[in-house]
Amino acid sequence: MTGIPDDRLRGSDAVDAGATETAAEFAAVPDAFQRLWTPHRMVYIQDGQQPHPDDCPFCIAPTLDDEKALIVARGTHAYVILNLFPYNSGHVLVCPYRHVATYDQATSEEIAEIGELTQVAMRVLTEVSNCDGFNIGMNQGRIAGAGIAEHLHQHIVPRWALDSNFFPIIAGTKAIPRLLGDVRREIAEGWPGATTAPAGTL
Ligand SMILES: [Zn+2]
Repeated sequence: MTGIPDDRLRGSDAVDAGATETAAEFAAVPDAFQRLWTPHRMVYIQDGQQPHPDDCPFCIAPTLDDEKALIVARGTHAYVILNLFPYNSGHVLVCPYRHVATYDQATSEEIAEIGELTQVAMRVLTEVSNCDGFNIGMNQGRIAGAGIAEHLHQHIVPRWALDSNFFPIIAGTKAIPRLLGDVRREIAEGWPGATTAPAGTL
């Protein structure tokens, strides 16, 4: 295609023929990329993002007791759970109860409570584990690194000055010095409003 205006009108014919288009032909800031439009692939992409919620660990966890599910605290719209595959001891996830995949699908109430629970988790983790900092964030979609992409969850990873050693670099192995059950109990007991009731009955 040469970029003359008439060519834009028959762009779909050009795509059907397997041709690519250059950015110079569009009313936008040009870049160096050519684009191959592949709308037929959407069926695979969309199907891959809609698993059945019955199989979702973040939907199942709140139906179990706290100790079994490794839940640290429960709010009205969201809850806090220990990550089963922690990057560091005290690595927690804040999840809405609703099975929604991405942040833009969360309601205002869910967003507000995810934020509040994140703040409380930071204070509690600082208090009980003396950490020096945090990594906080959400991976949106499997391509972005989300392990369970179908159910929104925010990571809160406590960091210590000396927590990065040679293990992750040479062996793909992360040393986690504490058992999950012990860490869960410690955080749950440090949570504001926590009672002295045995774990699992809160
Ligand atoms: Zn779910």
